[in-house]
Amino acid sequence: MIHEILPVGPLQCNCSIIGDETTHEAMVIDPGDDIEDVLALVRKHNLEVKQIVITHAHIDHVGGAMKLRAATGAPILLNQNDYALLKMLDVQAAWIGVAPPGKVEIDHSLTTGETVSAGSHTAQVLHTPGHTEGSICLYFAPEKKLIAGDTLFAGSIGRTDLPGGSMQKIMRSLRDTVLSLPDDTIVIPGHGELTTIGEERQTNPFLTKG
Ligand SMILES: [Zn+2]
Repeated sequence: MIHEILPVGPLQCNCSIIGDETTHEAMVIDPGDDIEDVLALVRKHNLEVKQIVITHAHIDHVGGAMKLRAATGAPILLNQNDYALLKMLDVQAAWIGVAPPGKVEIDHSLTTGETVSAGSHTAQVLHTPGHTEGSICLYFAPEKKLIAGDTLFAGSIGRTDLPGGSMQKIMRSLRDTVLSLPDDTIVIPGHGELTTIGEERQTNPFLTKG
């Protein structure tokens, strides 16, 4: 598995480029910004982007999706419960002081029970509402990797004070879905350092109390 993790944009969103070494098919997850740098990595590995997957519709995760779609022709996939957030990208741009990215179109909604693939590498889609209504995680079971979006961070969890956020829902998603994964699962959060499910189960203050 080719897996490049590139922090993009002013909020340094972890954009993942996942590719199959044999078929050269790839998916890009959360291309929030810096699409030229994303495309340089795609070319470096001689990949063909087949899917653009968005963990949730915050601007730092979705802001570059249309530019990447224009460059690759790949469809943009996002859970439909975040469509409302997608309509307020101008407002989101004002929150963090960046230029509005324009309208982002979604080609297909993703939810639990579906999968996304880059050649032979397939991830289960897990709908994990709480940070936003439409937040999803991607679980690559054979590779023991979880792309967690802003649901889980090393030592913390996603904020729930923005529109569509719910502390009750994120705690339920973490307990019922995320923590049901094996301890040796590597977690790639939406921002910051990588961690594991076991590490967070034992030491994350939001998960150890109660
Ligand atoms: Zn977010």
